Amino acid sequence: MTQTQPAGRPIEHLRRDPVLRGLIGFTLLGCVLFVLLDGQPMRQVQVFWLVQVPLDAALALGGWRLRRLAHVRYRRFWSMIGFAGASFTVGDAYHALEVLIRPGEPSLTGGTVQTVFFAIGMSSNVIACLIFPQGLRTARERFVFWLDATTVLVGGGVVAWCFAFNPLDGGTDRVNASVTAALVLVATFSATKVALIRNPPMARVAAWPMVSAAMVQGVSTLLPGDFQSLDHAYVYAIRLLPSVLIAVGPWIQVIVVRAGDPRHTVKRRPYSLLPYGMIAVTFVVFFLMLPDTASSQLVGATAGVVVITCLVAGRQLIAFHDNMNLITRLDVALGDLRDQEVQLREQASFDGLTGLANRTHFSAEMTRLLSADSSLLLIDLDDFKTVNDTMGHAAGDALLVIVASRLRDAVRGGDLVCRLGGDEFAVLLPDTGPAGAEVVAEQILRRLAAPIVLLQHTLVTRASIGLTGARPGEDPSTLLANADIAMYEAKRRGKGMWIAYADEMGARIGAEAVLIRQLDVAVEQDQFTLLYQPIVRLSDGRLVGVESLIRWNHPVRGLVPPVDFIPVAERTGQIVAIGHWVLRQACRQGAAWLAEFPGEVPLQVGVNVAGPQLRDPGLVADVAAVLAETGLPAGSLVIEVTETAVLDDEQSHATMIALRALGVKLALDDFGTAASSLGLLLTCPVSSLKLDRSFVESITTVSRQAAVATAVSQMAAALEFGSVAEGIETEEQRDLVRELGYEHGQGYLWSRPVPPERISELRTHDLTPLTVAP
Ligand code: C2E
Ligand code: MG
Ligand code: MG
Repeated sequence: MTQTQPAGRPIEHLRRDPVLRGLIGFTLLGCVLFVLLDGQPMRQVQVFWLVQVPLDAALALGGWRLRRLAHVRYRRFWSMIGFAGASFTVGDAYHALEVLIRPGEPSLTGGTVQTVFFAIGMSSNVIACLIFPQGLRTARERFVFWLDATTVLVGGGVVAWCFAFNPLDGGTDRVNASVTAALVLVATFSATKVALIRNPPMARVAAWPMVSAAMVQGVSTLLPGDFQSLDHAYVYAIRLLPSVLIAVGPWIQVIVVRAGDPRHTVKRRPYSLLPYGMIAVTFVVFFLMLPDTASSQLVGATAGVVVITCLVAGRQLIAFHDNMNLITRLDVALGDLRDQEVQLREQASFDGLTGLANRTHFSAEMTRLLSADSSLLLIDLDDFKTVNDTMGHAAGDALLVIVASRLRDAVRGGDLVCRLGGDEFAVLLPDTGPAGAEVVAEQILRRLAAPIVLLQHTLVTRASIGLTGARPGEDPSTLLANADIAMYEAKRRGKGMWIAYADEMGARIGAEAVLIRQLDVAVEQDQFTLLYQPIVRLSDGRLVGVESLIRWNHPVRGLVPPVDFIPVAERTGQIVAIGHWVLRQACRQGAAWLAEFPGEVPLQVGVNVAGPQLRDPGLVADVAAVLAETGLPAGSLVIEVTETAVLDDEQSHATMIALRALGVKLALDDFGTAASSLGLLLTCPVSSLKLDRSFVESITTVSRQAAVATAVSQMAAALEFGSVAEGIETEEQRDLVRELGYEHGQGYLWSRPVPPERISELRTHDLTPLTVAP
């Protein structure tokens, strides 16, 4: 039978259920007849037993229904309840027939047959309760259950003993009293189960009528004489009540199961009040019996009190044991928590890769350790990005680990080494003054310089170190900021060195901050101008191209040379916007000259492009757009890049290839000054080399300079690159570079950088007489 009623509030189903209505109807009918037949006790007894039969049958049928409806775990339980109902039905039906056919003395006590069947049914109920799986998993749980159940039973037993054997009023015989005692016990036992187990066989709404049936039956036999006398109609009703209550229980359960009410299984509460209630009852009974010291009831009550006291003691022992267990478990858990906390604190304080202190920990330690005799070193690896970009992040990480261990080796035990992040490290020397700190800085540079082999490459790590000593009253953040300024200065002066902080540096940094703000304004307000420096063909002195060179028309400082602001703009990224302006301006000018001298060979226009511009993915599109917009042929534009800007950078490399694809020319500027990798010349799509002016400067006097100049020229020729010698100031220099094979020259000998109109003038003259003054 799987059909279910639509889910809803069970109480509504209860009201509408036909079986329940029938049961109530039968009972009410019986009660009406008891009243109508007042004064005819035999008739009333006959009605009593007749009404009893359908109620018993309902119990049997309900149990039978649930045997098939209920969860498999509860089926045996319901079979036995059904069997009990069947047994009551047989016994009561037999007795009903007996009183109908052979009415004797009116009595509500059944005959022998009825008593036998009643006993069988009752036993079946008790066994059902006993064998029912209690959902108690551990031995401890089972033990506690039986302890509590025994407490309840002892309490019930004391009540039965005292009242059933000594009814408050006379009128009940010993057999009846024994049955009553048994009923009270069964009732309390059932209540115990319902209250104490995890998965009761029925919902509480169904259980309580059944439990109270036994209780009512027990209590009804204890009632005073008036409630026992068959002269009153209500006595029959009271005696009928237990049968009604026990019969409705299964039917309520049927409804609950069909409605799928989850309350069917209730979570076991951690404790039940029932045993405590029974302890209280036992003691109350004991004190009630106390005045009559000779009575047998007092013996029973005393025995009950003794047993219950033992049980309570047992229960307390278990509770104590549980508490101890809990405390041990709590202790273990607290220990684990403390371990985890230590671990977390370590994770929060140390750098995962190198195991050095991290910035947070370092700041905290600085506050603690800083004294007037402390020094701080800030270490930043030089060109670490190149390692990361060319050899991969794993190699970069490996390098950082090696650097970390070398730093640790370079300092004393009390010193604190930390990784501030990326390739930036700090060392706090808590009791080392400036002189000692310089020695440590030297040592660090020396140790770091030892070659490292990574992925079959031998690397020499260089670092820039900023050094500063603590001054009284100085806070850690100022110290860090000063060390940072000094480190920055070391980078600026060429890297791979340590620099001690000086106050002027701070001032310079302040000035730089002002400059950065002013540069933003300059971009917005168009404060830049471009000058052009001629590039001549050495064979005949003809003007073949120009290099555009930026100047800043500063509202206060006047004309500012590029060295004073281009490096800053490169660091801040402002160079991208500035470079865009330069590119457009130069191309526009180049196109203007083209229009001015239509028949002549177009001038090559050189534009300097910095590293950050090359790494800007938008550059190629920018160049293409500007060329299209201005109408300058791509072949007339020469983009000048320095070796350092393109060295080992994938993005720059890709940009250069894309620029070449546009038809733009590329010149390697300041060639020979950086730690050039000659391999670069093979992979970079350059079209010319510009020999740095430092070589030209002393080319006539220093043979080594001449040697480099010669090599560059030969290399350019071999690779079919154009060659330009920069910074030619004298005829001697010009003659020499021409002899060395340089194609083009650029320098004050011909002209300083000049405004575009001047270039137009120069074009109309021949530059060979070298008379062009700046
Ligand atoms: P550069 O690209 O190597 O430019 C040549 C520099 O040498 C120019 O200095 C020029 O005035 C100078 N020069 C030329 N001939 C002689 C000479 O005979 N003797 C001496 N002593 N110097 C000579 P300038 O204009 O001060 O530019 C310096 C640097 O600033 C440039 O070096 C270039 O790297 C950068 N720069 C200039 N304009 C721009 C620009 O628009 N964008 C970018 N990114 N950098 C620029
Ligand atoms: Mg240049
Ligand atoms: Mg140059």
